Amino acid sequence: MASVRIEEISKVYAGGVRAVDRVSIDIADGEFIVLVGPSGCGKSTLLRMVAGLETVTEGAIAIGERIVNEVDPADRDIAMVFQNYALYPHMSVRQNMAYGLKNRGMDRAEIARRVAEAAGILHLGDYLERKPRQLSGGQRQRVAMGRAIVREPACFLFDEPLSNLDAKLRIEMRSEIKQLQKRLGTTSIYVTHDQLEAMTLADRVVVLNGGRVEQIGTPREVYHRP
Ligand code: ADP
Ligand code: ADP
Repeated sequence: MASVRIEEISKVYAGGVRAVDRVSIDIADGEFIVLVGPSGCGKSTLLRMVAGLETVTEGAIAIGERIVNEVDPADRDIAMVFQNYALYPHMSVRQNMAYGLKNRGMDRAEIARRVAEAAGILHLGDYLERKPRQLSGGQRQRVAMGRAIVREPACFLFDEPLSNLDAKLRIEMRSEIKQLQKRLGTTSIYVTHDQLEAMTLADRVVVLNGGRVEQIGTPREVYHRP
């Protein structure tokens, strides 16, 4: 786990769009931050800059003590869960979860231990030999989370992970993520436009508008509900 410091970062895309405009957020070790705001407000750009999938135009991002502006995505000690799952279709559930660790040269026993643990947490134990196409949408999303968990990163990044699921599954997975959060306590940044997800999951909600932080506070402060 680690704190994440986002200091005065901006993103100006080729063509001059200022998608993120001098945003600062101090995220404590173990804190769960939810980014909300209207479509086009810069949520995804901000998350992708933390992930290293997008360069930073100005400002600094630190994960723990380390400034990561120029650090490769693979070396950032983060794991991202994508909206479209981004699973490898030709690989089994087990292989999908193990692949990134294998590439890093981790030893087989440690990989097996981590995959078994993640499968247990995510109720995937009976599905380890299946291919993604043989799974339901909720199960696929669990595999995507499993792949992030096995990395044991300092920080999880979630990019609208539940928005491709139907309403019932969304509620179910929302509470699974809540359980996961209680169990692992990993620092997280979570993008959504679902207010219930924000209220359920967030320690603090960050409302972006036009690339700037419009409001930042507890769900209660932001949504004015008991
Ligand atoms: P959100 O995730 O909140 O919907 P985005 O971060 O995707 O917002 O987009 C923020 C702004 O940046 C929008 O105006 C969008 O059109 C623009 N934008 C996003 N990606 C690119 C890109 N690759 N090139 C140019 N402009 C982009
Ligand atoms: P690696 O284990 O070296 O990351 P992969 O093929 O799994 O190899 O990933 C290819 C690229 O995608 C790498 O840059 C990696 O950091 C990134 N990547 C893969 N999975 C994730 C994830 N869950 N979160 C963030 N980045 C990821």
